Amino acid sequence: MLGNIVEPKGASLRGWLDHLQATGRLSLVSGDMDLEFGVAGVANRLDGSSASVFPAPGGHSVPIVSGLLSRRAWMAEALGIEQEQLIARFEDACLNPVPWTEVAEAACQQVASYDVNLTRQLPIPTHNEHDRGAYITAGLLIARRPDTGVQNVSIHRLQVSGPDRLGALLLPRHTLAFFEEQEEEGADLDIAIVVGVDPLTLMASQAIVPIDHDELEISGALRGAPLPVVKCLTNDIRVPAEAEFVLEGRLLAQVREPEGPFGEFPQYYGERAERHVIELDALTHREQPIYHTIVGGGLEHLLLGGIPREASFLSHLRRSFPCVRDLHLSRGGTCRYHLYVQIESPKPGEAKNIILGAFAAHYDIKQVTVVDTDVDVHDPTEVEWAVATRFQPDRDLLVISAAQGSKLDPSTNDGLGAKMGLDATVPVDAPEMKFTRIRVPGQEDLDISALVAPAPVDWHTCASVGEKSTSWN
Ligand code: MN
Repeated sequence: MLGNIVEPKGASLRGWLDHLQATGRLSLVSGDMDLEFGVAGVANRLDGSSASVFPAPGGHSVPIVSGLLSRRAWMAEALGIEQEQLIARFEDACLNPVPWTEVAEAACQQVASYDVNLTRQLPIPTHNEHDRGAYITAGLLIARRPDTGVQNVSIHRLQVSGPDRLGALLLPRHTLAFFEEQEEEGADLDIAIVVGVDPLTLMASQAIVPIDHDELEISGALRGAPLPVVKCLTNDIRVPAEAEFVLEGRLLAQVREPEGPFGEFPQYYGERAERHVIELDALTHREQPIYHTIVGGGLEHLLLGGIPREASFLSHLRRSFPCVRDLHLSRGGTCRYHLYVQIESPKPGEAKNIILGAFAAHYDIKQVTVVDTDVDVHDPTEVEWAVATRFQPDRDLLVISAAQGSKLDPSTNDGLGAKMGLDATVPVDAPEMKFTRIRVPGQEDLDISALVAPAPVDWHTCASVGEKSTSWN
């Protein structure tokens, strides 16, 4: 069924860079920007308008790219679909994964080194003011469950702690679960960190799917063909064959070292604390590799986490609530904390059940607002209008105290926080006219460009016509 589909533009990193360049959305930064703040400063200034390439950052011979997917529309483009299909396409890929195919030789292993020296071999920037130092931010951490062989893919912030040593923040999800199973046995967990992958694999890595689902299979579904992978040189992890860099290593059992602070997606610093440690055994890369960095808190960071989550949450909610039509993680809510849900013809009280269901989808969700189908969930002004005109706090507000929340939300007590749900739907028994939105019939169908005179125009010509035929003066 996946036979003759044309490969989407986002199926290759270098192909995507060609596409951005051809469409005027790739800025080649000619100044020699410092790895400390220089790269991040330029990338942030261009964020959302163009991706950036730094040919020799801080005098390093490896170029850096950033801002590859910093708009919702670009993600749709990478998938070869319209923006309106984005969530549905991603949801479909999560439900119908395509197993990867293993190859014997791969571009990502053209050059191999068993003597890893991170700062010498990779141009790793320091992004925000109080970051502890250089961080690998676009590294897909791939782990493999030793008993089943099932892999997991996720992105973690990785602090450069030594030439072959990284500090990692493992939030309570799949990588941590894999690791804890190993650590109980006193063993390290083999991992690989892949930097410089194609946009589809980057998006797939952020899917919220059950623990025994390999996110690389979602990349296969997004491209419509199995993702080619290769076995690492020093362990059994399978990594995308076309990647730019692969760091092979182990999450160390019984070892914790200080990590942080680091500027995160909520626009605050994740604090310094005793965290997990990775020791590296090998580095492989393509000839003339490219290094990808994601600036902490930038649009690429926000949207990469946001859109795949929207798809996962839509699928999760629809399982219990067929009336759910669409949803959105707002940018003001850091594309993680505030969820808007659009529903059609709910039964009495159902909006509140949907709010409870949404909190169960992911602990990051802090606020859920439910609206009707006449409200565009992708437009925060529309949602605010629904709250302003359809919501009464004493009737429609749901507050849940002391639930598991995001540890990166500084208003929580180390992740323990409250949840808030707003039912901004029209009451089921309301008289129809009371909540009917005003509209001008025929307005949407007008062809304005055909009706309006092209510039330059002079309104006085109307007035002079008027003088002759009316008595304005
Ligand atoms: Mn997973």
